[in-house]
Amino acid sequence: MSNKNLPLGDKEMRTLADTLETPFHLYDEKAIRENARAFTKAFSWVPGFKNYYAVKACPNPEILKILKEEGFGADCSSLPELILSQKAGINGEDIMFTSNDTPPEEFKKAYEMKAVINLDDITHIETLQKAAGIPDLISFRYNPGSDRTGNAIIGNPVEAKYGVTTEQLLPAYAKAKELGAKRFALHTMVASNELDGTYIVETARMLFSQAIRLQEELGIRLEFVNMGGGIGIPYRPDQDAMDLLWVSSQIKKLYEEMIVPAGLDPLRIVFECGRMVTGPYGYLVSRVRHVTKKYKDYVGLDSSMANLMRPALYGAYHHITVVGKGDVPANHTYDVTGSLCENNDKFAIDRQLPEIESGDVVVIHDTGAHGHAMGFNYNAKLRSAEYILQEDGSVRMIRRAETIDDLFSTLTS
Ligand SMILES: *Cc1c(COP(=O)(O)O)cnc(C)c1O
Repeated sequence: MSNKNLPLGDKEMRTLADTLETPFHLYDEKAIRENARAFTKAFSWVPGFKNYYAVKACPNPEILKILKEEGFGADCSSLPELILSQKAGINGEDIMFTSNDTPPEEFKKAYEMKAVINLDDITHIETLQKAAGIPDLISFRYNPGSDRTGNAIIGNPVEAKYGVTTEQLLPAYAKAKELGAKRFALHTMVASNELDGTYIVETARMLFSQAIRLQEELGIRLEFVNMGGGIGIPYRPDQDAMDLLWVSSQIKKLYEEMIVPAGLDPLRIVFECGRMVTGPYGYLVSRVRHVTKKYKDYVGLDSSMANLMRPALYGAYHHITVVGKGDVPANHTYDVTGSLCENNDKFAIDRQLPEIESGDVVVIHDTGAHGHAMGFNYNAKLRSAEYILQEDGSVRMIRRAETIDDLFSTLTS
């Protein structure tokens, strides 16, 4: 069971919705910090543990600054994400550059920033060399193919466009070494929104095996393995968060069974999780415009999939709280919709909720990752503001809402 409480009381939440223009995303700083600390603490036995926060999950420098203060790095996949990390004061090897189909100028920027460059393909060694040069430290993204099956969300690795195959792995490292690389790392990303901890443990086993293989076959000793992201969050109230302490203890066991006897200790273990770091601590605060009765009953909000795409895109569940109606029985069945001219612009379908009226404040949970970030301007919808609920209880804007002028700013007439 996961609790679906709000970070503020009903009265404060209503006041906030009355004061600020809805809709907006609200991020809970205290909870983000506590969660980041718990993650790091769970892996405190790992030499040099670090989570490189996947910037794409919530690309706001104020969020990155908070995470930097908690010892996190940044995982970037594009030039703007590199620049965003720089703005937040995250530099050098505190950045993992895990991109794919990368243009030369992005490699050049990552090289100049001395970020850890994680190559997605064996042919990218040449692209990188031509664009900037081969850095001392190089990492490859490993795709295990049929040696391992991905989870339902990320799919079957054989079908994935990412990474270096099992066969290509040794030639890739050999080539990088020949061209001057001196320090090496190995990365993979085979899960997404996974709640089963055994998945993460098996990922560690897979990376440890490849670390041993690289040592035995090429005499290459890895500095670190990057487990990728993909740790899920309990979007549904009946789901449980992954037990990180258990995962950590199982990985420690494997480390002692595999890495230590192979003489590869110390080997750093790092992650690049986004969702589990900020996801549960973001809230989309919205107001009900209309309650309508057609063949079904609809609650029309002042937000849309421009603010939160996941339900429309993946049919993803996001919990919904009607502020101030926690004690009212959830005996009405509604589709909770946005205002976009797309019938899949629905935050919930056939959801049991208390009776809703126009003007009610509705909070959609777990929007702290892949929420605002995925927003788009289709149907000329404007993306909302982002606010942070600070540790002292005050609320600070960290991104203003878009205006019509923003929308028109790229037009040529
Ligand atoms: C998206 C992504 C992540 C973060 O995934 P989460 O599910 O948010 O933890 C990490 N690494 C890579 C390469 C990604 O594409």
